[in-house]
Amino acid sequence: MTATSKSTALADLLQSVFGFARFRAGQEEVCRTVIDGRDLLLVMPTGAGKSLCYQLPAIARGGAALVISPLISLMEDQAAKLSALGLRVARIHSGLERAVARQACADYLRDELQFLFIAPERLRVPGFPEMLAKRRLALIAIDEAHCISQWGHDFRPDYRMIGHHLPALRGAPDPAPVIALTATATPAVQADILAQLGMVRPAKFIHGFRRDNLAIEVVELPVPERPAAIRRLLAERTRRPAIVYATSRKQAERLAEELARITRAAAYHAGLDAETRERVQTAFQAGELEVVVATIAFGMGIDKADIRTVIHAGLPGTLEGYYQEIGRAGRDGAPSRTYLMHSYADQRTHDFFLNRDYPPVAHLEKVFDVLSDEPQPGEELRSAAVKKLALSEEEFDKALEKLEIHGGARVDFGGSVTRGGRGWKKTYTVQAQHRAEQFEKVLRYTALSQCRMAALVRHFGDEDDAGRTCGACDVCDPAGAVLRQFRRVTARERELAQAIIDELRPVDYKAAGTLQRSVDPAGRVQRGDFDGLLDAMVRAQLIEIEEAEYEKDGEVRRYRKVRLTPAGLDVRPATPLPLLVSEGIAEEFGGRAAPPVRTRKAPAAGQKSAKKQQPAEPAAPMTAESETLAAKLREWRVAEAKRLGIPAYIVLHDRALNAVAQTRPATPNQLLAIDGIGPAKVEKFGETILKICAAGASAR
Ligand code: ADP
Ligand code: MG
Repeated sequence: MTATSKSTALADLLQSVFGFARFRAGQEEVCRTVIDGRDLLLVMPTGAGKSLCYQLPAIARGGAALVISPLISLMEDQAAKLSALGLRVARIHSGLERAVARQACADYLRDELQFLFIAPERLRVPGFPEMLAKRRLALIAIDEAHCISQWGHDFRPDYRMIGHHLPALRGAPDPAPVIALTATATPAVQADILAQLGMVRPAKFIHGFRRDNLAIEVVELPVPERPAAIRRLLAERTRRPAIVYATSRKQAERLAEELARITRAAAYHAGLDAETRERVQTAFQAGELEVVVATIAFGMGIDKADIRTVIHAGLPGTLEGYYQEIGRAGRDGAPSRTYLMHSYADQRTHDFFLNRDYPPVAHLEKVFDVLSDEPQPGEELRSAAVKKLALSEEEFDKALEKLEIHGGARVDFGGSVTRGGRGWKKTYTVQAQHRAEQFEKVLRYTALSQCRMAALVRHFGDEDDAGRTCGACDVCDPAGAVLRQFRRVTARERELAQAIIDELRPVDYKAAGTLQRSVDPAGRVQRGDFDGLLDAMVRAQLIEIEEAEYEKDGEVRRYRKVRLTPAGLDVRPATPLPLLVSEGIAEEFGGRAAPPVRTRKAPAAGQKSAKKQQPAEPAAPMTAESETLAAKLREWRVAEAKRLGIPAYIVLHDRALNAVAQTRPATPNQLLAIDGIGPAKVEKFGETILKICAAGASAR
């Protein structure tokens, strides 16, 4: 077949079987590779259309495809969709009657199936893998493949067995290809998937982590203030439907109660019975619930396109989990916003969870020591352990689970436990360490003053795409931030910023600490305030900060290298510095009013001279052009005041209006830099004002 006719054949299948007019980005290339029989690792974001990448090749290759999936809801969803297309599908999982499973096996053996969905633990059932191996498979698809990796955020011990069974399941000669699919895999996880599945010369396809319609906001907020802030955020109808991720069941319950005051909201967590959870998920999917407050157990099976807001009411444990959760917003492509709330307290909560989920090696050792080569019933072991080993049942279960994962124990389908190898200690320690590091990365992400989206894209290993800023997150567009509040720098701060620039101009970089000592030798500026100013300068792209470390007395110490950007180099004493300093959260969401005195305070002696050096603010004479623009703005102001039933000067007072006419701001940021225009005004009128300015500019 020629390349074109192959291409037509695939497009025909796409149309006739799935009813889709065209392939989405990447799909065709991936399908062709799999049809050719090559192993493939596919990493694409949720909703990108990964399933088609195994479904279409399965049909093209003929025979039955084996699909391994971690969740019943995912399996049911995919199976229902394929059945609706008239394809022959069966699934086997613990939620079904035995007879259904038996029928599925019979159909499979009679070559009557095109797709067979199974949960990974099914491979433990004696005889089941052998039954599968009796037929030739079209391909083997492993969905949510990151579950295989202990570096992944959803690690499932049962996924580890898949690799052992694959050689037999693939068959020979001309073994069936294996396709591993996931939406979340850092380079380390990717390598782990390839290795564990023993993939042969695998093709790798990693694509599309950037989400252009997501605006990310990260805000520091004390825990007790979060419920009110979340309630006020979600009181706005356009911000729903929404998912709120809570860090504990208790927090989920409480938040759901709080939100039920304003909208149809419910909690979803592992402490609820299966029926309730199912009901919540279905109701949310159907639009009957507007907000779900969930622990991480929620969302994998969710296929809802119009989620407008995702809120993390506490720090997530890993960036992978976080990215996947915020990724549930805005699948329809419409603008959506995500908020991450954090404070120092989250760190302590997290340490607690870490200790619970990764118990001390000593616990594991105790349990390992009572295991033997003879299988012992797990129940008996547990009650003996609680008596003799001074472990609680929970601690015993956790320790046994970890031992099993790391090969120190084997648990069979009936729950009997045998002793495993001794190698568990090393891998367990490494994994616990890795988890701690993952959390470090989350902490660093919250402290970042660089584009949030770019940081995430880089984290997932797509360096090519990581260079571009998103223009929408709280770092790129502080004026557009909803929860976070920014204020313009004071004259004193502006002076300090100028001094920082002067200090950096002749050198490659300076360490942040040294820099502060040289521009503020008397130590008048608090460390936090200085850092806040540096962050503001990073957001304005005047400086860059690079994390670095050095070793002293055998200890690794971290510091930050601060250097000027080309734009920073260009700054002259007369250049206006439209810097915005972060200042808690906006008043309307429970923040305290920003102390306005700071900007208005009579300047101290030293600041007067600074003001003279920076004649950016004083009014330049009005040109004819700015007069025309001012007239247009006044016209709009009158109309707007009438519409809102308020005096014109409240919409915009004369001084601000004239300043707009003179400076012709082009971005919300520049608008915000004008005296008399705060975030609230930018939010209300910013867009219109900028439009009027832009229209004036293009008419010139
Ligand atoms: P993923 O597994 O990557 O999260 P899915 O495979 O579940 O995503 O696909 C998401 C949605 O996109 C599904 O509703 C699917 O039917 C649809 N879809 C996939 N490919 C196409 C296509 N080529 N044209 C139109 N819709 C598609
Ligand atoms: Mg999927």
